[in-house]
Amino acid sequence: MLDAVRATCDVTARRDADPVSFVHAFATREDRELAGLLAACLAFGNVTTIRNKLADIRARLGPSLTRAAASLPGLQKKLAGFVHRVFRADDVARLLHGARRCQDLHGSLEATFRAGYPAGRAATADDTWEALACFVDAIRREGPLPRTSPHGFRGPAHLLPDVRSGAGAKRLFLFLRWMARPADGVDLGVWSLSPSLLFCPVDTHILKLGRNLGLTLRADGGATTVREITAGLALFDPADPVKYDFSLCHLGMATRCREAYEPTVCDGCPARSACRHAPSDGDTSLSKKKRAPTNTPVRPEPRARNAPFAR
Ligand code: SF4
Repeated sequence: MLDAVRATCDVTARRDADPVSFVHAFATREDRELAGLLAACLAFGNVTTIRNKLADIRARLGPSLTRAAASLPGLQKKLAGFVHRVFRADDVARLLHGARRCQDLHGSLEATFRAGYPAGRAATADDTWEALACFVDAIRREGPLPRTSPHGFRGPAHLLPDVRSGAGAKRLFLFLRWMARPADGVDLGVWSLSPSLLFCPVDTHILKLGRNLGLTLRADGGATTVREITAGLALFDPADPVKYDFSLCHLGMATRCREAYEPTVCDGCPARSACRHAPSDGDTSLSKKKRAPTNTPVRPEPRARNAPFAR
């Protein structure tokens, strides 16, 4: 079923409706790292609005983010007046400048991120959380972009998550997916990090699909849910569990899945065969009320909730 969902995804059309298209507009590795971080961190709210805001930033900063991000005062001037949700021009300027400084100090954002893994042994997926937290620390330090604003604005805290607090870090795992997964028309393969170290970016669509497909029973998008959904997907491809993310997410967007059996939507859904809400083939008699309630595990769970996570 997961392979069918991937196979039926119109990658070109869906990519053009996704914030990742912003990253593809840049050619160099350095620009793609900055563009990916920026697009992922602003991927908050309506996707059309996000794309328009990213286009606005591109028009203001010109074709080279690397050059534009070298000067914090220059960024602040060019971005003056920019607002997206709780994020203001100064937040975006400090994010880009902090990331650019990290590229200068470490050679790349990949090297900055890798520096957060323990030295002297092979990295595991569990280590990725602390590496991500260290990556956030480095950008905040270099921005500087402290979590708390002297003016009480919420943007600085929200722009980069507090990974150590149990946040699901959806937007940063989206950035990692874009950078580290092999180039496939959506993800860009900019980094050489193993895709087995990645976790699924759990947004509202993945959470809904994850529940429908029995990958999790949880209703929040926190770190535990992220681990459960990723562990479920890893059963099908431990080397690259996140490869299913884009097509599943866009399936949820395209179908406007309601977590309930709606024949006009569900009967054409490529995830139907594994969905807890859809009747099995030939069974058209069950009404919606007779189907399993959302919190009943009707599919074998991929792993027990408290089982140690490993790939
Ligand atoms: S079959 Fe229906 S409820 Fe299940 S995932 Fe597809 S659209 Fe959603």
